[in-house]
Amino acid sequence: HPDAQKFQFQAEVNRLMDIIINSLYSNRDVFLRELISNASDALDKIRFLALSDSKLLGEGDAAKLEIKVRADKHAGTLEITDSGIGMTRDDLIKNLGTIAKSGTNAFLKKAAEAKDTSNLIGQFGVGFYSAYLVADHVTVTTKHNDDKQYVWESGAEQTFTIYEDKDGEPLLRGTRLTLHLKDDAQEYLDEAKLKDLIKRYSQFINFPIFFETTEVVEVQVEEDAEEGEQASSEEEKPKGDEETDTSEEKDEETDSDDEDIKVSDGDGEDDKKPKTKTEERKSWTLLNENKPIWTRDPNDISEEEYTSFYEGIAKLPGKPLARSHFKGEGDVEFRSILYIPDKPPVGLYSGTTEEEKEAIKLYVRRVLVTDKFEYALLPRYLGFLVGIVDSDDIPINVSREMLQQSKTLDIIKRKLIRKGLEMFRSLMKQDEEEVEKKEDEDEEKDGDEKAGKPKSKYIDFWNKYGKSIKLGVIEDTSNRGRIAKLLRFRTSKTNTDDPYDWASLDNYMDRMKKDQDHIYYHSGSDLASVQESPFLEKLLKKGYEVLYLTEPIDEHMIMNLPDYDGTKFMSISKDNFKFGEKDQEEEKTKSKALKKKFKPLTKFLKEKLGDKVSKVKISNRLSQSVCVLSTDQYGYSARMEIIMKAQAF
Ligand code: ADP
Ligand code: MG
Repeated sequence: HPDAQKFQFQAEVNRLMDIIINSLYSNRDVFLRELISNASDALDKIRFLALSDSKLLGEGDAAKLEIKVRADKHAGTLEITDSGIGMTRDDLIKNLGTIAKSGTNAFLKKAAEAKDTSNLIGQFGVGFYSAYLVADHVTVTTKHNDDKQYVWESGAEQTFTIYEDKDGEPLLRGTRLTLHLKDDAQEYLDEAKLKDLIKRYSQFINFPIFFETTEVVEVQVEEDAEEGEQASSEEEKPKGDEETDTSEEKDEETDSDDEDIKVSDGDGEDDKKPKTKTEERKSWTLLNENKPIWTRDPNDISEEEYTSFYEGIAKLPGKPLARSHFKGEGDVEFRSILYIPDKPPVGLYSGTTEEEKEAIKLYVRRVLVTDKFEYALLPRYLGFLVGIVDSDDIPINVSREMLQQSKTLDIIKRKLIRKGLEMFRSLMKQDEEEVEKKEDEDEEKDGDEKAGKPKSKYIDFWNKYGKSIKLGVIEDTSNRGRIAKLLRFRTSKTNTDDPYDWASLDNYMDRMKKDQDHIYYHSGSDLASVQESPFLEKLLKKGYEVLYLTEPIDEHMIMNLPDYDGTKFMSISKDNFKFGEKDQEEEKTKSKALKKKFKPLTKFLKEKLGDKVSKVKISNRLSQSVCVLSTDQYGYSARMEIIMKAQAF
């Protein structure tokens, strides 16, 4: 185009495009979900703005908020059109030339190292650029209320162009994406395939999605010409909701890729009559239900529907680990669906706060207000949950800042936390039920004990999100007791080679020795070094159980957990460490004698080591090793000191 102006993509976009174009991507279908979700986002934005200024919506067709999908077989293009907010020229440059998505760098780094990126791409959700999974050239035509109509184009090289669209078909408002499909992606022009994909991935989009269907019909040409046309024009009128089913059926009857096919009633005689010809008829078919799923009765919602809704909001393929669909009642009424994703989002634990934003969408009376809150709906440690909240009790046109501080949101937040924690517990319950079932089945068989612990949904969850639970112990004081029940540990009495053998604190308490008055723990940088530690020797010999803490967050957590059901925690590497009461009496007399006997040695060592140690004394904690370096009762443990140094507290 003569007016076209050329721009460079941001470096990250180029790297992302390289990955998209060069990966052998097994599931390219996701592009459609991404693009329809962008259309839906754009519609959400204009609908939200129109709440405070209805003029923004325009009139007539412009006011209709909808998505249209159209395949043009002759041109080899697929079009997705929305009447959403559209983009100004500046928006185009910024939104489709740079990438602001959190976690991008983490993703690019991983993708560069990975052999097969397809899984990563799916997890990351490449958004707009996923168009290049199937297209080698993309045209974006867009009209924003505040600007003229523009065209953005790129053939996936390092550049894109923009020009004002003076001659194109005017859009009242919104965006049209035209994908020029690659040779090997022509399947995405197939009506049945497209309809199936849209139904599968986008059925819970809250705006109507229309698909242009082509029907080949026979029309008479001669004497009945007038009558025929009348009949056909009646059939041609766009089909609304009620007619959806019939139009689909018709479509299936004539379901054919061959557009020249002649429809005949099979007796072969029609073919001889020169008075008929075939014609292509286009009509729009509504593909989705667009009644928000959360407003429906859970009893009427199938497992598939829940999963499909999850895929749409989490933008993750696969089944969630658990879900909860509930109504909040009382001071604030709301509905919510929460899911535990099958995988933690890329970057959840990589450390920067930017990457830990929650994925809860807030709707007020079915209108999406925002999904960009920072921990206003869920605390940081539950940031991995995805879902929606819809409430009638939130004023719709208050600013985001005011919303952030609103009491209503606080109430909702408290309930969401409860429900989240309940969901985790429900995984445990499911495990218990499984075990019971298995035990019944296994009753006759015997000697199966060495087979290891059964697979556990909860431990799978723990392996994925355990860090978040530990963070919860630290940060959520009001639910600390509840959260502590969710903790799992490797201990001296679990088989650390068995992926499913972990201990809860309840397990630990049940196994405690009679004279034991503390929960013992020992920390180190990895399991091996903890297990081999001389501190453990005597305890294990005497049959005490010790929790193994190997993650940096573990000690922070224990320090924030004063006790469990009244029993305090104790590091076995602390200077004042003592066994249980009875034990103490016995040991006392013995150690007194020993102390006396070895006084010259301890004195000598202290003199030799000087300031390097605070004291040298006889210990009753060892059975094999000669000596051990321990820390002061009131100081940090050795492990903690290493962590503190690393973090420069
Ligand atoms: P995300 O949707 O996560 O923001 P995308 O890569 O999917 O990331 O899209 C990038 C941006 O491009 C969007 O944030 C939006 O600003 C803009 N955009 C994409 N598609 C549309 C559309 N159909 N209408 C308006 N803006 C769009
Ligand atoms: Mg997107």
